[in-house]
Amino acid sequence: MIDFKRLKDDFHLPEGVTYLDGNSLGPLPKTAAARMAAVMQAEWGDMLITGWNRAGWMDQPRRLGDRIARLIGAEPGHVVLGDTLSIKVYQALAAALALRPDRKVILSDTGNFPSDLYMAEGLIRTLDRGHELRVVAPDKVSDHITDEVAATLLTEVDYRTGHLHNMAQLTEKAHNSGALAIWDLAHSAGAIPVDLQGCSADFAVGCTYKYLNGGPGAPAFIYVAPRYADRVDPALSGWLGHAAPFAFDPRYQPGPGIERMRVGTPPVLAMAALEAALDIWDRVEMDAVRARSIALSQRFIERVERACPTLTLASPRDPENRGSQVSFRFEHGFAAMQACIAQGVIGDFRAPDIMRFGITPLYLDEADIDRAAAVLAKVMAEKQWENAEFQQQGRVT
Ligand SMILES: *Cc1c(COP(=O)(O)O)cnc(C)c1O
Repeated sequence: MIDFKRLKDDFHLPEGVTYLDGNSLGPLPKTAAARMAAVMQAEWGDMLITGWNRAGWMDQPRRLGDRIARLIGAEPGHVVLGDTLSIKVYQALAAALALRPDRKVILSDTGNFPSDLYMAEGLIRTLDRGHELRVVAPDKVSDHITDEVAATLLTEVDYRTGHLHNMAQLTEKAHNSGALAIWDLAHSAGAIPVDLQGCSADFAVGCTYKYLNGGPGAPAFIYVAPRYADRVDPALSGWLGHAAPFAFDPRYQPGPGIERMRVGTPPVLAMAALEAALDIWDRVEMDAVRARSIALSQRFIERVERACPTLTLASPRDPENRGSQVSFRFEHGFAAMQACIAQGVIGDFRAPDIMRFGITPLYLDEADIDRAAAVLAKVMAEKQWENAEFQQQGRVT
């Protein structure tokens, strides 16, 4: 049994804030500040350059990768951290296309996060070999997996609606058509149980600053299935993916397995904060998190639907088809969310009309859900979105 009450106590949550935006940026683990301070003083400060060996900085991207592997059903030794998710999307896609040189179609869906699509388009331009990015409705992906498709590039959980793709089925269909399956786990890792190995996924990527609570700008991760790990040709052939970085060989030779997906110097300080978050995740089973996420989500949907008839549920009603977020459509969603935030209930807004609430059982309980629903109900009943102060947009929504 997981003691969720104790887990919540492991996070710093500001007084008066009910935080339903851990799907964008997870909160601070209480031990992270001390952990970072120790790395700064005892490692960077006192060890200087020797920290790469003595403090194990160079192995950190693999060590932390193994801890994430447990959460996403990956084989140990096949996940590595570094860079940002957009970069990891590019690497995975480039590797997949090189494994299917005779095919030209990358299949994605309209629910995918724009950066994934932008990176695919950029890669297509760079390769200049006539590839096509085919973007179809999320429920039509399966129908479009044909023998033209080199790779599917799908985000398992839709960032706006929370719609959950069936990873096992779509991967199987891709394989039956001779295509490779790349999964973006941005809204899956730490949100729902993932079984990369069981689904035979070929590549997976994700970030660590959302559900995993690694902190703003925490590094991304990439998984390459063992059957391809020693075969993929790295498009971003940086020195730390080289077989012998310190041989300073002018010719690039890829390192063994997942090591070749490293690019440059790892973000040691950022990984210290992530490590503190992973200390918490090490104590957690994803099945229990999922069960509690569903219970809290159902509670939130019931309360909001009862009190706010003008909001339309944008997320799938069946929890089996939903990740760990609940979204509602509302024309004035941006201002309504600003009004909620002004009253300490933090969710976010995704254009054009989605109010999004992340359900994160590590630090949310029934009282938080009830408070969030009550504040939202008040905002709606009083039409607080009409207030001009809530209509000002910052750079980040
Ligand atoms: C959050 C998110 C990103 C962000 O990419 P970064 O390079 O980390 O900024 C990319 N793709 C998806 C699907 C996301 O949800």
